[in-house]
Amino acid sequence: MFDSDTTVQQDLRGGRPPWLTGFRRPVRDRLERDLTCEILIVGAGITGALLAQHLTALGHQVCVIDRQRAGFGSTTASTAMLQWEIDCSLCELTSFYGFERAADIYWRSHQAVAGLRTLVDDLGLQCAFRHRSSLYIAGGEVGAPELLAEHHLRERAGLPGIYLDYLTLRREFDFDREAAIISPGSADADPLLLAHALLAQAIQHGATIFDAHAVSYDSFGHGLIVELENGRHIEAGKVVLATGYVMPDFLKTDLHSTASSWAIATAPQTPDSLWRDEVLIWEASEDYLYARTTTDKRIVIGGEDDDSLTKPEERDALMPEKAEAILKKLSLLRPNAVAKADLVWSGAFGQTEDGLPLIGQAPGMPSLYAAYGYGGNGITFSFLASRMIAKMIGGQRAGWYENFALDRPVPKA
Ligand SMILES: Cc1cc2nc3c(=O)[nH]c(=O)nc-3n(C[C@H](O)[C@H](O)[C@H](O)COP(=O)(O)OP(=O)(O)OC[C@H]3O[C@@H](n4cnc5c(N)ncnc54)[C@H](O)[C@@H]3O)c2cc1C
Repeated sequence: MFDSDTTVQQDLRGGRPPWLTGFRRPVRDRLERDLTCEILIVGAGITGALLAQHLTALGHQVCVIDRQRAGFGSTTASTAMLQWEIDCSLCELTSFYGFERAADIYWRSHQAVAGLRTLVDDLGLQCAFRHRSSLYIAGGEVGAPELLAEHHLRERAGLPGIYLDYLTLRREFDFDREAAIISPGSADADPLLLAHALLAQAIQHGATIFDAHAVSYDSFGHGLIVELENGRHIEAGKVVLATGYVMPDFLKTDLHSTASSWAIATAPQTPDSLWRDEVLIWEASEDYLYARTTTDKRIVIGGEDDDSLTKPEERDALMPEKAEAILKKLSLLRPNAVAKADLVWSGAFGQTEDGLPLIGQAPGMPSLYAAYGYGGNGITFSFLASRMIAKMIGGQRAGWYENFALDRPVPKA
């Protein structure tokens, strides 16, 4: 768990991801005075950016603060596979919550990616966004029978996808795995460009963005007073926390933990080294592997997650070793790809017991909302959070919001 006051963006990620080219550095003004606003968003990563764009488009007066550079926290470390399939399979989620609730959660996730795709297309956001299918491949303890069971449950839920047996998978995608499920409706992007493009839209619609560090949140009348590290205050009707894996102590829950993850990007590959349609690939095993391509034909591949490390320096020191392990897996997955790392990076990875985000009102503080899109679908869930929180601020609340509540109990299978 990261300390809310002392964690810096460099603690959240190390090494060099491929997203650091072509971005426009957003202007940062230090906040040296007190301020009043309708909605304050704390954190200007992809979550804060999605919130700011949506809330300003709805006509709200929004101020965003970040204590460091917008987008340079976990957002920059992301591999930005924008999938509706959740870290917990539908079978696993059903064992936690029953079929109806699990299927509804999967549909909310499906709608979130569809919404994100529409948003990027409608606004013409320049962020290397591509519509993709995703290929969920057998691996480790998950073989063909388990994938077939997952496919049948998804069919029952009305979710799209086709089961591929060994020979079909080999013929269609040339992967040597027992089976897979190919599903339409996902996407990929450059996460840093996406965050910056959304912030630019928000600013165009009147949002202000400041360099400021929030240290405390106190209820005041119908709103909140947020104290800043420099002694200044922001008085806001509503406050949304989009602080990523750095959560204030008063919100911490047993549902959430932090692991470490590693990823590499190869140099651009020749077309025959890549796979059909450059689909998103993710492995069904516990110790899972995921891969995508980029617009300049690199392979980005990651995994090797470890939840035993506690210090960012330990995580970063393992980059060479983890890169080698990932490259070995790439050689097995795609023998004709050039398995050499051009870029290597590491990141803290926030996760929950059920693979679901923490979204909603802070317990006991009605004007304070939290938008924590944890897990491998972090960005999908950030989109969902932006829509749910906008509705909550508008006074609407649906029963299914409870599925993501911060104070939901830890699930028991
Ligand atoms: C290696 C890796 C791979 C991933 N792959 C994927 C993937 O393929 N698909 C996917 O959907 N997700 C993926 N994720 C998850 C996804 O990247 C995250 O869910 C997402 O980036 C979180 O964004 P955020 O805006 O919530 O947090 P951040 O980007 O960390 O932004 C939070 C911001 O809050 C600021 N802040 C914190 N505290 C304060 C404070 N007190 N005052 C002011 N500012 C503050 C920070 O400076 C930071 O800029 C991956 C993550 C990692 C690490």
